[in-house]
Amino acid sequence: MPIDPEFPKNQKVIGKHQHSDGQNFHFVWGPGRTAEAAENEEVKKAYEARGEQLVPLGVHGTMVALDWDSCIADGACIEACPVQVYQWYRTEQDVPAIEMQNTASAGTGEDHSREGRKDYTDKSDPIRENDCIWCMACVSVCPTQAIKVDQSNLEYHERASGTFNEELAKSSAPPPHAH
Ligand code: SF4
Repeated sequence: MPIDPEFPKNQKVIGKHQHSDGQNFHFVWGPGRTAEAAENEEVKKAYEARGEQLVPLGVHGTMVALDWDSCIADGACIEACPVQVYQWYRTEQDVPAIEMQNTASAGTGEDHSREGRKDYTDKSDPIRENDCIWCMACVSVCPTQAIKVDQSNLEYHERASGTFNEELAKSSAPPPHAH
C-alpha cells in the first residue's frame, strides 16, 4: 500500500515536527495505518528487539511527504537525494518513532548512506523539506512507493500553518480563456 497520493485531502494534521533552526518545520498527517512496515520481517524483528510497539505513525512532510507506515528503512531515498533533505531520524534522537510527531530535530544525523540506519525501526525523515529541488530522485527509488513529492502541496502546508494568502492565489490564477 503506497503512500496515499491524496493524503492532504484524506488525512489531518496530527503533528508538527520543528527544525531547531526555529524557522522551518514539517507537518505530520494522520491518523496513519497498518502498511508495509508492519508486514516486513526485518522491521518487525527490530521492533521486537527493542521492545517497542509497531504503531501507526502517519506521513511526515507535505511537499516532500514520506509515509512512515510504508517506510521499511531501505534508505534509497537518503542516498539518492542530492541536497540531503532526509536524515535517519534515530541517528539524531534515538527514541520511538511515535515520539517524532511533535518534536524538534536539528538535522544533525550524519550518515547519509543506506547502511547509516540505527536499525530497521529507523525512518527517513524529510527534516530539510524546504531544501527540495524537485528532482524526483527519491520517489523513483523507494521500494514501497512511500514518497510523494509535489510542489503544489505547498498550499496545504500554508493552509495548515495559517499563512495561505487567498488574494495572492486568486491574482496569480491563469486568466479565463478568451474567445
Ligand atoms: S525530490 Fe530530489 S531534492 Fe527533493 S527530496 Fe527527493 S531526492 Fe531530494
